[in-house]
Amino acid sequence: MVVFEKQLIFDGGIGTTLLGKVQVDGFVDLLNLENPDLVSAMHSEFINAGSDVITTNSFCCLESLISNSGEVALAAAQIAREAAHGKLVAGSLGPGYNIPTHKDYEKTVTGLVDGGCDFLIVESVTDLKQAEIALEVINGALPVGVTFIEAPLQLPDFELQFTGINCGAEPSENELKKLSKITDLPLAFFPATGSGPQQMMPAAEWAEVTAYIALRYECYLIGGCCGASPEHIKKLIVEIN
Ligand SMILES: [Zn+2]
Repeated sequence: MVVFEKQLIFDGGIGTTLLGKVQVDGFVDLLNLENPDLVSAMHSEFINAGSDVITTNSFCCLESLISNSGEVALAAAQIAREAAHGKLVAGSLGPGYNIPTHKDYEKTVTGLVDGGCDFLIVESVTDLKQAEIALEVINGALPVGVTFIEAPLQLPDFELQFTGINCGAEPSENELKKLSKITDLPLAFFPATGSGPQQMMPAAEWAEVTAYIALRYECYLIGGCCGASPEHIKKLIVEIN
């Protein structure tokens, strides 16, 4: 059982980091089967940057998006488990495009669990219903946290291990402030580096702002989302220490 009582540094944007290395037609998750070495190398870059937790390349593994979602998720977990070298592996579940169904997550959750994830994270949630459906499927299979793009008015009624804010635009405390008022759970903060290719914050500047906000709200889980490279994480660790 993973207990989030000490500060852990996560990785950055998995999809954006992979897309910086290779051109992909379709979902980046398919690289788990088509080019596992590339995915593994990406994880290793974050481990070398100092991440305590790496996230699986499975954000779009919903059955309605990827028909062999279970196979892709299993590979995602196995690749990350091996690349982690004893560090923690978070199994990523994304929200899909609309409101997902239970069936969307069933094989994915089994794949992530069987592949050896330490816990699961339902991330980039914009609608509580998305989180609820994912959590109903997970239902105790592994410890789980949920991170939102915008702070919800209430949290889903499940045994969450942590909650927080991820993605969005550049780091801002607004959503974290709202979320901190409605929860006593350990907080996570994984901001993006901007809202488009033209607005990517340089690593040093992003790290300074992210660390300032994360420490101010006593976040236990700190990392990045879209646009955050291993370099961003390396600088983040310097700022936090
Ligand atoms: Zn993101």
